[in-house]
Amino acid sequence: MATAKFQTTLAGSLPKPGWLAETNKLWPTWRQEGAALAEAKADATLLWLKEQEDAGIDIVGDGEQSRQHFVHGFLEQVDGVDFDRKVKMGIRNNRYDAMVPTVTSALRLRARVHQTEARLLRAHTDHKIKFTLPGPMTLIDTLADGHYGDRVRMAYAFAKLLNEEARGLEADGVDVIQFDEPAFNVYMDEAVQWGIDALHQAIEGLRCKTAVHICYGYGIEANIRWKQSLGEEWRQYEKVFPALAASRLDQVSLECAHSHVPMELMALLGAKDVMVGVIDVATDSVETPEEVAATIKAALRYVPRERLLPCTNCGMAPMDRHVAAAKLRALAAGARLACEAV
Ligand code: ZN
Repeated sequence: MATAKFQTTLAGSLPKPGWLAETNKLWPTWRQEGAALAEAKADATLLWLKEQEDAGIDIVGDGEQSRQHFVHGFLEQVDGVDFDRKVKMGIRNNRYDAMVPTVTSALRLRARVHQTEARLLRAHTDHKIKFTLPGPMTLIDTLADGHYGDRVRMAYAFAKLLNEEARGLEADGVDVIQFDEPAFNVYMDEAVQWGIDALHQAIEGLRCKTAVHICYGYGIEANIRWKQSLGEEWRQYEKVFPALAASRLDQVSLECAHSHVPMELMALLGAKDVMVGVIDVATDSVETPEEVAATIKAALRYVPRERLLPCTNCGMAPMDRHVAAAKLRALAAGARLACEAV
């Protein structure tokens, strides 16, 4: 009996080519301005679409080529956020300092955020398309509040805006909308108390697949230090997964490759689709297809094959472009290998 192949996808971001932005940086400066920048973003989006398709990735994305950073890309279209009032703030529970803008008045979406790139992708591929948005809790953890005086109220205000954009993306033909919530791994109690409920507001009325990505961050210095402080076993997921299993979200994207996360925690996700991270984004060493297949096989002990989507651990934005492309090929090749073997 022929077994259905695994549906591969990626967590979100991909490196920007050197002609679009500074390379190997999390907050890169654009190399172009105005119309030339818009054109360069579109060119880079199509380039990565081709790379993903050629690699054999099934559910493709825009690689976040049009956003400077996964959080600030969204904020740029939000009225009420003052980018001229940037303050230094410790984020993710003071794991690292960032220069963050300040909320100075009621939040409102000025215009669609990702319509251009969503329609561009839809016009150029028959593959399923996935789009990422920052989650409400991660958003409020990445800016200063000079207006609401209540972080949770501010998060719900963002959830309303995210829902507006998500509905627009669905209308543009997007198949999967994923909310990135690395903050869920830092503020586990709050994630259960209100974080998932805020996500429910963000997905209200959507008929497409919805997902949440929870990770241990990009492979940057501060994250590597943080991970070293977490001990032998990383059990952060244990607190949040049972609540996610009971949530209305369809899919959960998690970190698995080379991670200290005990694999059995995936079983806590109940009937959810699980995007299993089989590519480590914290190292430039490219996985072999055999390594990827081995991670998939190990995960199959806890996730049934029809609900397992091989994926990257996190975004690959700060990596070398050619390393990221090689990792995409390893991901797809490893998934094919695992499919033949089981
Ligand atoms: Zn991530």
